[in-house]
This record gives sequence, C-alpha cells and structure tokens, in this order.
Amino acid sequence: MKAHDGMYIGGAWRPAAGRDRIEVVNPADETVIGAVPAGTAEDVDAAVRAARAAFPGWAATAPAERAALIGALRNVLAARKSEIAETITAELGSPLGFAEMVHVGAPLAVASSYAELGASYAFEQRLGNSTVLLEPVGVVGAITPWNYPLHQVVAKVAPALAAGCTLVLKPAEDTPLTAQLFAEAVHEAGIPAGVFNLVTGTGPVAGQALAAHEGVDLVSFTGSTAVGKQIGATAGAAVKRVALELGGKSANVILPGADLAKAVATGVGHVMNNTGQSCNALTRMLVHRDQYEEAVSLAAAAVAAYPTGDPTDPATRLGPVINAKQHQRVRGYIAKGVEEGARLVAGGADAPHERGYFVAPTVFADVTPDMTIAQEEIFGPVLSILAYEDEEDALRIANGTVYGLGGAVWAADEETAVAFARRMDTGQVDINGGRFNVLAPFGGYKQSGVGRELGPHGLAEYLQTKSLQF
Ligand code: NAP
Ligand code: MG
Repeated sequence: MKAHDGMYIGGAWRPAAGRDRIEVVNPADETVIGAVPAGTAEDVDAAVRAARAAFPGWAATAPAERAALIGALRNVLAARKSEIAETITAELGSPLGFAEMVHVGAPLAVASSYAELGASYAFEQRLGNSTVLLEPVGVVGAITPWNYPLHQVVAKVAPALAAGCTLVLKPAEDTPLTAQLFAEAVHEAGIPAGVFNLVTGTGPVAGQALAAHEGVDLVSFTGSTAVGKQIGATAGAAVKRVALELGGKSANVILPGADLAKAVATGVGHVMNNTGQSCNALTRMLVHRDQYEEAVSLAAAAVAAYPTGDPTDPATRLGPVINAKQHQRVRGYIAKGVEEGARLVAGGADAPHERGYFVAPTVFADVTPDMTIAQEEIFGPVLSILAYEDEEDALRIANGTVYGLGGAVWAADEETAVAFARRMDTGQVDINGGRFNVLAPFGGYKQSGVGRELGPHGLAEYLQTKSLQF
C-alpha cells in the first residue's frame, strides 16, 4: 500500500522530526502493509503553527467559498472511492462491499451535507437589539479512532472547515493510510495551505501533545471513554473547548407487538456490521419474557449469515477485528460471559482461523443486566440478549449502564415506540428500524460524550458567539 514518509503540514509533505515509524498491519492476514512516521511534539507544534497561520485567512473567506471547497473535496474523494475502499479493507479488515458502501459512502454524504450547510448556515442572527455573530472557534485539534477511518475524519474536518476553523488531525495509529489519502484529497481539492494538517503518530505521544498544545482552541476527540476523560481534564485545565464522542452499550428494545423477526434480523445486522466495531452498535437486545426463546433462536439463525473470511472476497460479511490487542480483549469478554453464566448460543472465544484477528459471530442468551458483557463495551461481533418482565423493567435495563449513545425501539406502532424512546437516556434512538441520517445530531448522554457531530448541530460545535448591541 502507498504510504507517505512524512507529515502533511502547511500544504506539503514534510519529513517528520523524529525517525520512529509505525508499521501498519493488515488484520486479516497479519502482514505489514506499510509504515508511516510516528509524530512527536515537534511535528505537532509545526502543524499547529501552520494551522494558526492559516486561520485568519480561512476565517475571513466567504462561507460560500469555503463550502464550495468542501464540495470539491467531496468530489475528489468520490473519484478516488475504490482506492480509498481498498485501503480501508487492507488496514481495517472491512469487507470490500461494506468499505465502499459505508466507509466511503457515509463520509461522501456527510461532506455533501456540509457543502450545502456551509453555504446556507446563518452565521449572523438578529435577537432583539442585538446581532449575534457566530464565529469560528479557531484551531481545532482532531483526534480520531480506527473504526471508521474516513468517516470519523470527515465528521470533524467538514464542519470545522465550513465554520471557518483550521485543523490538525492525529488519526488512529492503526489506520493512518486512509488519513494520508484524505490529506492528498484535501490538497487536490485546492484547500489553502495550512487549513488542514496531518500528523500521524501514537495517542500518548502525538495525541497527547496535540490535546495539550496551547495553540489549539478546541479539541475534538472520538475514541474510548478512558482516553476521553483524560482529554477532557487536559482541555478543562486550559479552559479550552472540547468535544468528546465516546463509547456506548446501546439497547435494542423489542416491545410486545413488534415485528419480532424483522427486529431481531435488523438488530443482529447492526451488531455484526463492521465486526461490531461501531460505537453505537446495538449490543444489548431486550426481549419480553414471553417471546424470549423465539428471539434467541431467530438471532442464533441470523448470525449464520455472517461467516468470517477474507475481506477482499465479495462473499465475506464479517472481517477481522482491528488488531491483536482487540482480538485478545474481545475473546476475553466472550470467555467472561461464559464464566459469569450466560448461555452461548452461537460463536465463542476460539479464533475461527489460524491467521488474522477473526472472532466468531457470537450470541449470548440468559444475560442479566449486572454481567460484565451487559455493562462494558466489547467492540466486537458479540450480541447479548436480555429478558424483561414489563416496560418499566425494560426501561430500567436499557438505561442501566454508564453509556447513552445509540438505541432502538421496536413496537406495534410508532406512537408506542416514541413514548418509550422519550424515556431513554441516550443521544439517538432508531424507531422501528429507522435509518441513519447524516443531518441528525450524533453524540452521547452520560459517559458517551460531550457535544454532537453531523448536521447543523455538528457545525455549531465549531462556532463561538459574539453579540453586538444596537
Ligand atoms: P482510543 O484508544 O481512545 O483511541 C482514539 C484516538 O485517541 C486514537 O487516535 C488514539 O491514538 C488516541 N489516543 C490514545 N491515547 C491518547 C492520549 N493519551 N492522548 C491523546 N490521544 C490519545 O480508542 P480506540 O481503542 O482506538 O477506539 C475504540 C473506542 O472508541 C471504543 O471505546 C469506541 O466506542 C470509541 N468510539 C466512539 C465513537 C463515537 O462516535 N462515540 C466512534 C468510534 C469509536 P492511537 O491510535 O495511537 O491509540
Ligand atoms: Mg488505542
């Protein structure tokens, strides 16, 4: 795979300050497919300086002109769709079809939405005898995870650019090649030098340096709750804006009267997509006691359609998990589920292939709310099915974790589902199989985060307000 031996800073690929490299591994066969520089505080400092220098000019650029450049960026990404999808398949292990449709398709839709929003957004509002100016926050330090290597980047860069901010991105060390392709696309789209900068590297070195840099005005982080807490503390101490998109343990609540077969099949697909590595994955399925065994057998049958295999094979629907550490961790959770008394109805902790970080699609029944697998984020293809006695019990279970990112409710009618959804402590709820919407605010209640991404709410995160009184 193509890899740049440098950082994209100030509109050009520049040699890294240090000599350390990060090897990129294909999780499907454990081969090394490339290497990128491991950035240091020095690289981060150079990138932040470039972003600061570019800020006044970019902030003063007309919103319609910025929006047009986001549209141009979207078009470059679209033209390079196959190359990006192949890179995501190679470094993440995503089945190629899913890589094209979701890993590239979703960010294209997000970029389009900001090309439109950026041009039409009301950056000035009248309020009584005041004019409120919505101004860009400044230099953004963006830190992203590997699970959606392009989407997580675009979900920060597109609204930041639309708002008039400049950025430094520190992508996940597991998926830097997609981030480098993104930087190439930014360049090709003609976005001015210094507006977007890329520093590859590890979290504790490059990520930490970026979060702590005094030239950064807003830290936008997506990743684990553990790291998010540290970043929040660092940003808080410096009175810096912070946005945190963190983990989840979302509930899929199937109420009596719902289309059980459809609800279970959709729910299983939601967990197995991306090998369970979606922060909003519906990993807890809640079913009424009377329909419980039926739902369990439907789910066990549904996962049979997700055999693991070579992600470049069009027949494969379940790729590996990202790396050796996650491979151990996810299978450790499965072992823990068995140990704590849950009933394994599909899959298990054994690795299904000798090479590659594969995990068998796994379903647990008889999961109780206090079990580890019902409380902690597993981030793998593992579904837990819990039984509830009545609606109040279902609500208690659904709300009974520290997280609150996604969720779903299935009922006989929308009114019943919406009434339940209103009582859920979570940032998003899909009603009777409602689909992903690029304009809908995405983000967490409780420890799932602070702030929102996507749509106009996502744009607002990158703005600060000034009022003029007349
Ligand atoms: P992670 O370890 O928190 O990493 C996320 C990013 O932060 C990576 O770029 C990472 O660099 C960097 N990082 C790590 N330690 C850091 C530090 N001390 N200071 C600054 N940056 C640091 O998360 P992950 O294991 O890669 O991703 C999985 C987790 O992310 C899951 O918990 C998942 O739920 C969550 N997630 C949430 C969302 C959401 O939208 N809410 C989306 C995706 C993922 P390295 O790559 O070098 O570790
Ligand atoms: Mg990590």
